[in-house]
Amino acid sequence: MNPQLLFWVPATLRLVFVFVGTAIAWYFLGPVISLGLGLLVMCGMTVLQLHYLYRLGDWLDHPSSVKLPDGWGAWTDVFSRLYRLRRDDEKNKAELTEWLARFRQAMSLLPDGVVIMDDVLFLEWCNPEAERHLGMTLARDKGMRVTNLIRSPAFIDYIILGRYEQPLTLMLKERKLIVQIIPFENRRQILVTHDATESDRIDMMRRDFIANASHELRTPLTVINGFLEIASSQPNLDPAVRMSHLKLMTEQGQRMQNLVEDMLTLTRLESIDYPLRPERVNIPVLLEQILQEARAMSAGRHQISLQVDGPDLKGGTEELRSGFANLVLNAVRYTPAGGRIDIRWEMGASGPQFVVQDTGIGISAEHISRLTERFYRVDKGRSRETQGTGLGLAIVKHVLLRHGATLGIASQPGQGSVFSVHFPMHAVLAPLQ
Ligand code: ADP
Repeated sequence: MNPQLLFWVPATLRLVFVFVGTAIAWYFLGPVISLGLGLLVMCGMTVLQLHYLYRLGDWLDHPSSVKLPDGWGAWTDVFSRLYRLRRDDEKNKAELTEWLARFRQAMSLLPDGVVIMDDVLFLEWCNPEAERHLGMTLARDKGMRVTNLIRSPAFIDYIILGRYEQPLTLMLKERKLIVQIIPFENRRQILVTHDATESDRIDMMRRDFIANASHELRTPLTVINGFLEIASSQPNLDPAVRMSHLKLMTEQGQRMQNLVEDMLTLTRLESIDYPLRPERVNIPVLLEQILQEARAMSAGRHQISLQVDGPDLKGGTEELRSGFANLVLNAVRYTPAGGRIDIRWEMGASGPQFVVQDTGIGISAEHISRLTERFYRVDKGRSRETQGTGLGLAIVKHVLLRHGATLGIASQPGQGSVFSVHFPMHAVLAPLQ
């Protein structure tokens, strides 16, 4: 039924009932008593209405602590509708709070920073990533103007010009940030920040690697091309000179081959398509082979010793061969004739270790932390003379990473170097029965 009728019909009926009652009383009891009784009933009804009005006002002030009465007459309907309204309101509020919590959780997991600002750029909300990128704290800076928090002139110009369709690149606290403002409802704005420092570093490494590799390949190619030109322009060249040219060309060809092989090895070691397939590595056999290789390279110019006093390992035989051989052959290459090279496989305090100690040219302290970078050489000329590709220690680093091992380097210029590889205990294999 129409709610208006629900209200007016009982209220009118009640008034009619009072008037009819007064009229009947008039007839039987006379005007004074009947009017008195009618007035009394009207006063009672007014007091009841005022009581309910008071209870309603009290409830509106303290809805959670005050309870509404069941009511009488039209009040019953008013109170029950108010109850329903409040219950719906609380349900909506709970849903909204839950949704907001979920939204905040999702925003806090975003890899990018998000800042919500009002129409005059006052900070309303931001996620933890934005706090990290921009050095702000929501709890402390809420309500502050964002241009007072990000005090970069480039950012302020970006805001003034308002060309938000293009992102802005910002250098903040040694981070490269890509920043963009997106206007949304009620002239509010969202500021999105993306940290491009790491991807930029990787891009730069890739560019450097390509530039270095091209440079390394160009040098031997130039030499080979030069000799080929001489050979074709001077067909009657003295056979002895021709032989020396051929020897030099072979050396340069070998250098290019070493470089390409090392680059392929590095690529394989870095690739997720070539996961390590652990197997039993027979360390004595492996190190004996490397010792023979080192003696062949040294051609009797050094005293080389091998001492094996440790367990077998769980790992990749070919990878470890490449890593260990690089360290041993470096010792031969960077130790002048007459020097000593000691190779040891032993049990250390925290696990097995492979140590190569030489009495060579040594390395000064400022170079040590950079030795495992690709193409990093202390002395470029010397490295080329000894057929070095500049990738040996980068290969060692990747092999060790894949085995959970670490590299230690101790060196004194003119005194020699100690390269030590420390394996974790869980890489140890029990001896074969
Ligand atoms: P390279 O092919 O030039 O030897 P590596 O990556 O193997 O490249 O080594 C990087 C640099 O570290 C070398 O150029 C050399 O300067 C230095 N180095 C490596 N091993 C030794 C060593 N045992 N003694 C002195 N210097 C070394």
